[in-house]
Amino acid sequence: MAKIFCVANQKGGVGKTTTTVNLAAGLAKVGQRVLMIDLDPQGNATMGSGVDKRKLDLTVYDVLLESASVAEARVQSQKCGYDVLGANRELTGAEIELVPLERREMRLKQALKAVDGDYDFVLIDCPPSLSMLTLNGLCCANGVIVPMQCEYFALEGLTDLVNTIKQVHANLNKDLQIIGLLRVMFDPRITLQQQVSEQLKGHFANKVFNTVIPRNVRLAEAPSYGLPGVIFDPSSKGAQAFIAFAEEMVERIKGM
Ligand code: ATP
Ligand code: MG
Repeated sequence: MAKIFCVANQKGGVGKTTTTVNLAAGLAKVGQRVLMIDLDPQGNATMGSGVDKRKLDLTVYDVLLESASVAEARVQSQKCGYDVLGANRELTGAEIELVPLERREMRLKQALKAVDGDYDFVLIDCPPSLSMLTLNGLCCANGVIVPMQCEYFALEGLTDLVNTIKQVHANLNKDLQIIGLLRVMFDPRITLQQQVSEQLKGHFANKVFNTVIPRNVRLAEAPSYGLPGVIFDPSSKGAQAFIAFAEEMVERIKGM
């Protein structure tokens, strides 16, 4: 059975997409079968996996509206080693089109049942909002990975997300939990970042992943080549951190 994880944080630009595609590539490198789902109309995770969002016939939009199955809409990213259920601007419309439909928050969960045996991991890149799209991700997930920068307002920003996860857990998906907070774009030379990192560990204890993702320019350059950093420059510090994170995730799911 596949373990399903949302990469979510309603704050924009915190590293969700970078985390999703690099974790997907890292997991694939250590031998896991991975499906990466792009739930963001920006389509950055699709493009960042070497799949041209403008050329896709079928996307996660068709899956949410039940006009295609996951098996029909997924594509293989040969270079990256994992499958992609892509997204593009069309997905913006799903938000409104889903409103009158029954069990609208369960569409993705329902669709994923048919491919459950095909994967070890399903990773979902969420948009920077707590919208119907993110809700579809949260309803089918076993856990949420929360990338965050160790900045002054980091803890405050988490409150809304934590409350949403609690509500979804109580009402819609008993499996859901925060699997962990991932410190990203970390610069150990900045004292404030070290302080916030310590605060995080104080508050969330073992919910903070051991792996820390450093700020690394190769990770930022990789998307313009349509690749995750892990594939673009495997020897870079950023890529190595994501491989370590993939190994940590493989260990974490053993107890789940
Ligand atoms: P959005 O909320 O718009 O979906 P996001 O949370 O998905 O954004 P990303 O797109 O992953 O965030 O990252 C934002 C920017 O930071 C990008 O330009 C990305 O290349 C850069 N970035 C992410 N992680 C790192 C890192 N560890 N080191 C350097 N740059 C990074
Ligand atoms: Mg993103």
